[in-house]
Amino acid sequence: MPDTTPAKRYGVIGHPIEHSRSPQIHTQFASQFDLALSYERILAPLDGFAATVDEFFRQGSGLNVTLPFKEQAYDLAGPRLSRRAHMAGAVNTLWLQDGQVHGCNTDGVGLCSDLLRVGHNPEGKRILLIGAGGASRGVVFPLLEAGCELLHIINRTSSKAYEIREQVVALDPDASRRLSAGGLDDHCGDWDIVINATSASLNQNLPELPDARYRSNSLAYDMFYASEPTAFMLAAEQAGATHSKDGLGMLVGQAAASFQIWHGVQPDVEPVLAALRQAIGQN
Ligand code: NDP
Repeated sequence: MPDTTPAKRYGVIGHPIEHSRSPQIHTQFASQFDLALSYERILAPLDGFAATVDEFFRQGSGLNVTLPFKEQAYDLAGPRLSRRAHMAGAVNTLWLQDGQVHGCNTDGVGLCSDLLRVGHNPEGKRILLIGAGGASRGVVFPLLEAGCELLHIINRTSSKAYEIREQVVALDPDASRRLSAGGLDDHCGDWDIVINATSASLNQNLPELPDARYRSNSLAYDMFYASEPTAFMLAAEQAGATHSKDGLGMLVGQAAASFQIWHGVQPDVEPVLAALRQAIGQN
């Protein structure tokens, strides 16, 4: 008898949404396990996030959330948040459990798994994190959990970097010894890993940062990705970074962590990453 069970429904919700690569990623993950599912892009009106989510979950099973709704997703999942979502103050993965919407944030897991994949384990490392927006918030706690020696957050608007530090330390007082914050000109010392979590790369711009000093075997990591190396990656190599990587692996890694939450299995990221690199025209 052919299986006539309707495919479970998943999607990514944002505004805008047409650029999202998530349908391709999740469809390829699903094919690794012969799972039948549908995964769609959902454009929510800027003032209609909660209503669109509500409508989706009448039949749907899981949602990824992207700009500009991650904070609203955090509010919507209310007390049913994972520790990671709680620490991040933002949610990128929603699912239904016992009739209620639950939320997690997988951006940090995606980043940490990608750092491991490219051979730069954060454990014991001095890490400079540039930017204090939603993406930065999502990775602070996972980087601390991964055992970095020091995590220093700097931002153009320095108050936002201090705010993240305060919030994380309030939830985890032990973090205070390893977590510091400042403005863009405050990055004394040298670094094993420098992460660009600003949106400057969207316009091929750079955060205005006096030269950061890189240690030997260091990594410059841009969360942004494009068909060519980003301006940040090129400038970092000029400034002495040993290696530079873009954020495509983080994108696939955070999707893999969402997939595991929804389906209980860990997909293989490598073939999906290779297909995505080809699709966006990277060598
Ligand atoms: P937000 O809009 O929440 O935050 C933007 C940040 O960039 C702020 O800290 C802002 O500083 C800073 N910024 C913007 N322009 C400049 C500039 N010219 N110089 C210095 N700082 C600047 O964005 P997100 O945090 O959501 O996203 C940040 C980046 O991370 C984007 O490129 C996004 O594509 C990428 N990303 C990648 C993911 C992946 O899986 N690879 C996942 C999520 C995000 P200020 O506070 O002063 O305005």
